[in-house]
Amino acid sequence: MPTIAVERPGRVELATLPPLALYVHIPWCVRKCPYCDFNSHERSGALPEQEYVARLLADLESLLPSVWGRRLISIFIGGGTPSLFSPAAIDSLLSGVRARIPVEPIAEITLEANPGTVEAARFRGFRDAGVNRISLGVQSFDDPMLAALGRIHSAAEARRGVEAALASFDNVNLDLMYALPTQTMDMARADIRQALACGVPHISAYQLTIEPNTAFYSRPPTLPEHDACADMQLAIEEALAGAGYEHYETSAFARPGHRCKHNLNYWEFGDYLGIGAGAHGKVSFPDRVTRHERIKQPRDYMAAESTVSKQTTVDVRELPFEFMLNALRLIDGFPLALFAERTGLPFAAVQAQLAEAERQGLVQRDWQRLRPTERGRLFLNDLLALFVGGGSAGRGSGVRVAGPATRTS
Ligand code: SF4
Repeated sequence: MPTIAVERPGRVELATLPPLALYVHIPWCVRKCPYCDFNSHERSGALPEQEYVARLLADLESLLPSVWGRRLISIFIGGGTPSLFSPAAIDSLLSGVRARIPVEPIAEITLEANPGTVEAARFRGFRDAGVNRISLGVQSFDDPMLAALGRIHSAAEARRGVEAALASFDNVNLDLMYALPTQTMDMARADIRQALACGVPHISAYQLTIEPNTAFYSRPPTLPEHDACADMQLAIEEALAGAGYEHYETSAFARPGHRCKHNLNYWEFGDYLGIGAGAHGKVSFPDRVTRHERIKQPRDYMAAESTVSKQTTVDVRELPFEFMLNALRLIDGFPLALFAERTGLPFAAVQAQLAEAERQGLVQRDWQRLRPTERGRLFLNDLLALFVGGGSAGRGSGVRVAGPATRTS
């Protein structure tokens, strides 16, 4: 496979800057789930809400010089379990953000919540604070499955949580997981039926995977066989399509008009500021694309003089892979012009890789869009491997399909 021929290595030229979003990380949970590899920490005692919000806002201020004159199209408060924070703390966070950077009037503002940590009054408080979308980490409606996942809520609490969220918000996402320990096809079907019965406009369905540095990694549970997992995925996709949900990203399904704007901005290789312990961000400039990372440990994050743990300019040779890693997750792919718009590189930079991907039946394109084929979606790792480090990696190069964290807690 030839390497990417970039006309002027080391330089990019962006004609316009991408949309800008804000990710806020709140790193505490009631209990650490055994499958979770997020930067989440079991809380002990009262949460340092005020201190943490003050730190988040100082963190945001430190990033402002890199985004002067730009507006936020969305805010996503993720974790951890952000719903452990009081509505008053979320209110002072969002007011503080608005006082520091312009926010589009129709900006999507999501807060992740877990059943068992929220009730109707709390949801009303979050709505009054300016949150307009809730992402609820339900995962399953089956008590033994929830217990196997180490979740703190029961199926009844999950149902009550969804009801309470829908009483205050039109825009609600429900997270569901499948291929759970000892789960059968009938159980997976029952879960998706119950999720659909809730009437939420957005559902994210994730296959449980065992990640390093988790309790499941040290003591792996017995998971369904590979073929059974694929059948569950198919059954879930069929059930969602039958109920009128559009499958628009590997794991995301929405009723018309309810696609998640914040996550779409990740997948379309937009910019985002990341504040909070361990948060990541990406900011473009006319001649470069940069990434930043915050200190991971909450205690250190709050105490350190500077919250930055890493700041880099993305190597121009990595940009095609980074773009594809996100954009090829989209079922409808992307407009061809978006590649040059977001990476500052000519489309010719990936011609050879795309020709190879087409030859392998992994992508298809017309004069307007490029999209993964069904085979491309199935073998996304192989497809992405074509773009690694200038396209020299081949099948089985160990590329892991993962964009910015979009799974809810
Ligand atoms: S899965 Fe969610 S609730 Fe569980 S530990 Fe991770 S972030 Fe916390």
